[in-house]
Amino acid sequence: MSDGRCAIKSRVRELRRYSLRPERARIKLNQNESPWDVPLEVKEESLRRIALRAWSRYPDFVPREFHERLAAFAAWRPDGILAGNGSNELIQALLMVTVGRGKRVMINEPTFALYRQIATILEGEVISVPLTPKLNYDVEALRKQVQLTQPEVIIICSPNNPTGCVIDHADLVSLLEMTRGLVVVDEAYFEFAEQTAVTLLHKYPNLIVLRTFSKAMAMAGLRIGYLMAAPELVSEIGKAILPGNLDIVSQTAAEVAIEFYESKLRSRIELTISERERLYVELKAIPGLVPVASRANFMVVRSVIGPQQVFDELLNRDILVRDVSSYPMLKDYFRITVGKPEENDEVIKALREIFNSKPAAPAGLKQ
Ligand SMILES: *Cc1c(COP(=O)(O)O)cnc(C)c1O
Repeated sequence: MSDGRCAIKSRVRELRRYSLRPERARIKLNQNESPWDVPLEVKEESLRRIALRAWSRYPDFVPREFHERLAAFAAWRPDGILAGNGSNELIQALLMVTVGRGKRVMINEPTFALYRQIATILEGEVISVPLTPKLNYDVEALRKQVQLTQPEVIIICSPNNPTGCVIDHADLVSLLEMTRGLVVVDEAYFEFAEQTAVTLLHKYPNLIVLRTFSKAMAMAGLRIGYLMAAPELVSEIGKAILPGNLDIVSQTAAEVAIEFYESKLRSRIELTISERERLYVELKAIPGLVPVASRANFMVVRSVIGPQQVFDELLNRDILVRDVSSYPMLKDYFRITVGKPEENDEVIKALREIFNSKPAAPAGLKQ
């Protein structure tokens, strides 16, 4: 009898599931989450409003009021917005309506692994453009590949996960101008870069911007994301969304978070940015470590000690970071999320301990 696996696409059988090692630690710096939970006021107000809603009723097919709130928050039009169950759902939906056999998706690598994963499951062809040796966007190489291969979809993660580089505004415009396909800018971390592509939506009907409540908004557990594009594109992508995708609990909490953004959330973003700069300077002073300047709430760090060993030694001290050494170009790197100031203090102290017991970096490894 067949084990059924022959029914699975061969490309899918070759893939590994997108997941993460299951370790836990007191200081959790492995998923780029907010180190601070949602403020209590936001939770209480959300719960109050959720209790008033009928749980027996389906959510609206198009949550118009929520889209209007998001539109006002992000400075785009409500009919150009699609909210989703995490922005990952929206990445999936937009790839579902664009990618099939023979379709090309251009990405930069290293980047967020899910783009390649979903494009591959959908039997698209992934065209990968490496970052520069200094881990920045290689715009010349991108332009060349666009001309050569005319991809249906170009995905730019800005700031890029895991490297933290951003795409220059003029470079993005040049890609938008030259491609016949779509350009997707994943802005999961845009708050920390204080830079957005949203202003370009007015001019470019082939631009899609993705946002999430999972990072700066501290709501990863509730799964809320949104996509912005021209209304014509949004209505096409909406066809791949399941009815009632966004539950009323998440939707309500997101509305409340928007209301409290200025008074409760914004100052945390500023603190994270200044902590990121502090962490960078402190790590740079440790012999054997070379942090890479980042515009997000995390950074990758090159290490003379194997990243797996650094991971283990930090875990022994109850600190969890991300070993990214299996990513292209990042064999010697780990990634660290910016935590609370006192958490960052502990990380710096731990890394000093780990590295002071080792010889300093050979000259070749210093920047
Ligand atoms: C964290 C992250 C997201 C957010 O995904 P959600 O599904 O909204 O939690 C999207 N893109 C990138 C690159 C990320 O790192």
